[in-house]
Amino acid sequence: LFLSFEGIDGSGKSTQARLLAEAVRARGHAVTLTREPGGSPGAEEIRRLVLEGATDRWSAETEILLFTAARRDHLEKTIRPALDRGEIVISDRFADSTRIFQGITRGDLTATVDRLHALMIGLEPDLTLLFDLDPAKGLARATARAGKELRFEDMGLAFQQKARDGFLALAAQHARFRVIDADADQAVVADRVWHTVLPHLG
Ligand code: C5P
Repeated sequence: LFLSFEGIDGSGKSTQARLLAEAVRARGHAVTLTREPGGSPGAEEIRRLVLEGATDRWSAETEILLFTAARRDHLEKTIRPALDRGEIVISDRFADSTRIFQGITRGDLTATVDRLHALMIGLEPDLTLLFDLDPAKGLARATARAGKELRFEDMGLAFQQKARDGFLALAAQHARFRVIDADADQAVVADRVWHTVLPHLG
């Protein structure tokens, strides 16, 4: 079972991914908790290339290639082997983040992202949880969190709003999505996540 967690910065998805991994393990399943960009040694190196330094270091097109290269390595080294071992894989971000952050927020490159995905990745999660939150609240949460890489916080609310709308539009198009209202206490959101995922656990 392959699960991905998506949402704007500060939506709480990383915390929720960790909580879900613990809960699923407590139920006796083997879990691989991973993240993008990153999730394998090579992909973590690419993460640093992309997230460190100026936001205009790479063009949107180059970024799509870098994220796709990172995802390919993540898939080969981490996701596929874990799925082959019969584990439950929880990825904090996957291809939908590229569809939004590289595909739509800086011009329309959706077709490019999708073609590269078909060519090089070809795998979609069984279930994608979209953590939906008002971007002003997400930004407040994200900036309150010291030491966290936050590439786009300085790009501001309009950017995050565009990303939120993009995620919601994507969710409306694909049956694998479940939209989780993330505007609640951590424990309440964790409960929503658990009840969404439980029917999919064997
Ligand atoms: O999910 P996480 O907070 O680790 O993401 C780190 C940063 O990378 C965030 O600012 C996120 O918006 C950005 N990102 C991106 N393109 C992706 C995935 C993440 O710009 N495809």
